[in-house]
Amino acid sequence: MAEPEAAPGGAEDPIIEITGLNKWFGQFHALRDIDLTVERRERIVICGPSGSGKSTLIRCINRLEEHQEGTVVVDGVALTHNLKNIDAVRREVGMVFQQFNLFPHLTVLENCTLAPIWVRKMPKAEAQQLGMQYLERVKIPEQAMKYPGQLSGGQQQRVAIARSLCMKPNIMLFDEPTSALDPEMIKEVLEVMVDLAESGMTMLVVTHEMGFAEQVANRVIFMDAGQIVEQNTPDEFFNNPQSDRTKLFLSQIL
Ligand code: ADP
Ligand code: MG
Repeated sequence: MAEPEAAPGGAEDPIIEITGLNKWFGQFHALRDIDLTVERRERIVICGPSGSGKSTLIRCINRLEEHQEGTVVVDGVALTHNLKNIDAVRREVGMVFQQFNLFPHLTVLENCTLAPIWVRKMPKAEAQQLGMQYLERVKIPEQAMKYPGQLSGGQQQRVAIARSLCMKPNIMLFDEPTSALDPEMIKEVLEVMVDLAESGMTMLVVTHEMGFAEQVANRVIFMDAGQIVEQNTPDEFFNNPQSDRTKLFLSQIL
């Protein structure tokens, strides 16, 4: 992909601004002093050992987790206890999980049209048209009338991506989207994500798919013990890691 439009950390046109973020689960300090500014159209890969706070960090961006200290501002809207703000942010932030989280009793198309109809108040026919449009985009329009249980894992994850896109998000968060998939299905999901990145979507992707990071990311963030330890362009990150923790991590996964 083309090189970054905006330098990491630069303040050209930020869509996410996280400052001094701290989060505890009871006594456990899960996120420590996180500062992160994301420019529009950035594609950020977040990696790091299990338990380092990757999921917690991205979940703070759509308030699936509540933070205790610091500020999280998404497209100009600050995430506080204000429910209106939380609602506004959730409408523009899509999220895809490791475990697809599709509704098993709804068809593929119904999974896609549910939120547009109920949240966006879109007429059903229009929502169905939109749903088909995104199922085509993820290359499974022929599965529209099936139920999730009748699909392979890779197909289900592509439905989950299509479902998110139906809400026309400005930001997409991915939390280990290929970790639950058999190896032969990882590629088909990554291809959809590459396509999405090329379309200009702002993406934060927690993944250990380093090939994807090299191909798509403009910035790789390494987390350990609740902190951002290091961040750089993929080239620098993989070929010239700075900290010992990063070097150790890379030696274990590459
Ligand atoms: P990662 O995604 O990097 O594997 P997580 O963000 O899921 O890490 O978790 C970071 C740390 O916070 C872990 O030690 C985890 O056990 C802890 N944690 C996450 N969610 C909760 C929770 N709901 N309650 C208590 N501890 C949690
Ligand atoms: Mg996680």
